[in-house]
Amino acid sequence: MPQIHVLPKEVSELIAAGEVIERPASIVKELIENSIDAGATIITVEIQHGGIRFIRITDNGCGIHPSDAPTAFLRHATSKVKNARDLDEIGTLGFRGEALASIAAVARVEMMTKTAGEELGTYVKIEGSELQEVRETGCPLGSTITIRDIFYNVPARLKFLKKDVTEGNAVASIVDKIALSHPEISVKLIRDNKVAFHTPGDSKLISAVYTIFGREFAQNMLPVDYELNGIKVTGLTGKPMFHRANRSMQHFFINGRYTKTRTCGIAAEEGYRGAMMVGKFPACVLELQMPFDQVDVNVHPAKIEVRFVNEKAVFDAVYFAVKSAVADHGTLVRKETAV
Ligand code: ADP
Ligand code: MG
Repeated sequence: MPQIHVLPKEVSELIAAGEVIERPASIVKELIENSIDAGATIITVEIQHGGIRFIRITDNGCGIHPSDAPTAFLRHATSKVKNARDLDEIGTLGFRGEALASIAAVARVEMMTKTAGEELGTYVKIEGSELQEVRETGCPLGSTITIRDIFYNVPARLKFLKKDVTEGNAVASIVDKIALSHPEISVKLIRDNKVAFHTPGDSKLISAVYTIFGREFAQNMLPVDYELNGIKVTGLTGKPMFHRANRSMQHFFINGRYTKTRTCGIAAEEGYRGAMMVGKFPACVLELQMPFDQVDVNVHPAKIEVRFVNEKAVFDAVYFAVKSAVADHGTLVRKETAV
């Protein structure tokens, strides 16, 4: 009979981290979400070698109080949830208190952070879950987190990372989505010392779309603004002629969170029925605002999938929102051709 024992902390930390941190892009996602939750209006993401060697996220958010700075790296340490009831209505992007602990378990981490109320900021260094250094430091308001050498202590994971360029593209794709979901935030991505994009943060989705996907894409978008079943659907959806070969240009954000959702994708496609060639796919960037208790984000550690309390209500809201945008466009085109 094999003996049962509780795993040592460094092993259980690595196992838990594995659920949240799969590649550099997962780190970037978690860190930008923290910056957004901290109320940042300017976020800069720098990566080198696809983020495998180096990631740095700088924000002008609220910062962390000196006495909390080391605590932030403990597993299940969070300022966003206090009791079980809070889990029913999550209004922040983070809530599990796992990201910083997971990142610190599998990489070398340095953080500089300062709140508005403090004269000096705090510097924290932590590697493989081991706290190395905590001291006062002069730094601007907000937080800067630097991550080096992801999976330096998990060779099995390191082996599964792809080439720098592939990992870098995965990072860029996450930063794209986050920038699109928060056009009020100015997001800058720097890849190997070159600025990849820089959104203006003027609160206009079209500006972010133009910056990230370019002029042709932006010019082929139709405005969406619709409300049904207490769900508000806003954003942009492509003209029927602007069809794509696959679903990669369909983006959905639920209450400010980038979400993978089949329901919304199918609903949007249905909205084009009769207007788009079969076998082609629409492009869209749609934001759904719904009561926090109507969507469960606590489904997966990476928080990319969600569960809707009323799936049909969500489907209908997206379907009718897209359908009416496409129909309005059709009417406009017919009027123009008639003149
Ligand atoms: P969660 O986001 O789920 O709360 P994290 O491990 O990502 O858990 O972060 C732990 C805590 O550290 C957060 O709840 C927040 O209080 C603080 N924190 C993390 N990143 C930042 C940041 N960029 N600015 C301010 N506070 C932060
Ligand atoms: Mg977080």
